[in-house]
Amino acid sequence: MNVSDSEVVASILEKEGYTPVQRAEDADLVLLNTCSIREKAEYTVLQRINEMNSLKARNKGLKVGVLGCMAERMREELLEKKKVVDLVVGPDAYRTLPELLDKVGTGQKAVNVLLSREETYGEIVPVRLDTNGVTAFVTIMRGCDNMCAFCVVPFTRGRERSRDPHSIVGECRDLWTKGYKEVTLLGQNVDSYKWRSDDQMIRRSDDQNTKLGVGSSKSGVGSSQLAVEQLAVGGSLDLPTTDFADLLELVALAVPGMRIRYSTSHPKDMTDKVLAVMARYDNICKYIHLPVQSGSSDVLKRMNRGYTREWYLERIASIRRHMPDCAISTDIIAGYCGETDSDHADTLSLMAEVGYDMAFMFKYSERPKTLAARKYADDIPDAVKGRRLQEIIDAQKVSSAERMAGYVGQVHEVLIEGVSKRSSEHLFGRNSQNSIVIVPRHLDDIDLRPGMFVHARISSSTAGSLQGEVTGIVEEAHTNE
Ligand code: SAM
Ligand code: SF4
Repeated sequence: MNVSDSEVVASILEKEGYTPVQRAEDADLVLLNTCSIREKAEYTVLQRINEMNSLKARNKGLKVGVLGCMAERMREELLEKKKVVDLVVGPDAYRTLPELLDKVGTGQKAVNVLLSREETYGEIVPVRLDTNGVTAFVTIMRGCDNMCAFCVVPFTRGRERSRDPHSIVGECRDLWTKGYKEVTLLGQNVDSYKWRSDDQMIRRSDDQNTKLGVGSSKSGVGSSQLAVEQLAVGGSLDLPTTDFADLLELVALAVPGMRIRYSTSHPKDMTDKVLAVMARYDNICKYIHLPVQSGSSDVLKRMNRGYTREWYLERIASIRRHMPDCAISTDIIAGYCGETDSDHADTLSLMAEVGYDMAFMFKYSERPKTLAARKYADDIPDAVKGRRLQEIIDAQKVSSAERMAGYVGQVHEVLIEGVSKRSSEHLFGRNSQNSIVIVPRHLDDIDLRPGMFVHARISSSTAGSLQGEVTGIVEEAHTNE
């Protein structure tokens, strides 16, 4: 999400005459886009801010800004204690960067950390940074209304708001025309995406970029498809509300040659309607990131997650019913307030039951202002948190290795993204399930390139990647026929 936000910032600054450079040493302005999710993330940023002192010593004109969640959470501290910082801008205030930079130009410090209920940066076309030219992020909503007890996001990124589906589809089509082959739709809780056309009419735009395309679905006709077809024959997009399933379908139909991913689902809100749309369209990747956080219903209650272990496992079963080939990953927190050995054992047993393809695993880190910080003691000793985290990591390694081994012998469609880090004679890409697949650089006398879809027979696996032999180039990927 920060990468995506930085691309919006780059777009705003490009209009002011700024261009991105590769190294901070070459810059007149350095903006650090920051994360507050765990103490460790903030610590890393504070170190980076200190490093700016030596850059400023060499380049007196250099201006340094802090953007994002830490700007929101620590504005006074940053402005008062970090002399090197000239500018502090929260996640909803990027449009004011030009005025703030004018102020900084006169030698003053500038700050804007106002949160907004409306800002989605909807119509801003992001400038892609560090791009591989193949995959891109598209933000579909901002903020979060969930108030999970451990989480700082609602405090730093504000209330949840959804972006106009027209501008989302427009951005995806624009990416397609620029040669991109995959988009990841981003939101803290994509399942609560909602756009109401009564107060926010979805209008047909004259802009070619925002015209939706027409496609055909594999089985049955979804509501969005009818709406899209209606639009194509000159009508208006007639959906009273667009939910996440509708949006996914709209995007799948509008850019049928493109792969679509999304993140993040919330177990309490993930609907069968979304799963049915995923199953229906070949170009929607068969991969779901479904953060569980804990396998214990008691802990989940104290986390204010809004679901139980049983509910979560039923959601997993529903994914498997709709898409037996779907990969599932998760987030897990070890050592949350009051977590007992038995709660921890519940997490390990849930992991064994689900068999995740991949997981992001963290030690609980108390965050100021959150419900957990106010209500519960951070009472699990660090050594115990560390031991539990290691057990979770070890269990995940076994599970990842098993899942990956299960792909050996199968033929997967792989979108090539770049040259393998380990060997210049190999390329890497991803299958629909989001596993990394390494393939040889050449197929007979054809040079394979990033952006190509190929079929690869999986020949071997590790816990982290697959090796494949290319059996052919996919001329027309996922036609949704
Ligand atoms: N919105 C997503 C969700 O609901 O799962 C993810 C949000 S957060 C940016 C990513 C992950 O960071 C969370 O799923 C959680 O596992 C972890 N996380 C959040 N707050 C944390 C904390 N205080 N300590 C440790 N991990 C935390
Ligand atoms: Fe944080 Fe929960 Fe919102 Fe995710 S859903 S961002 S964990 S409050």
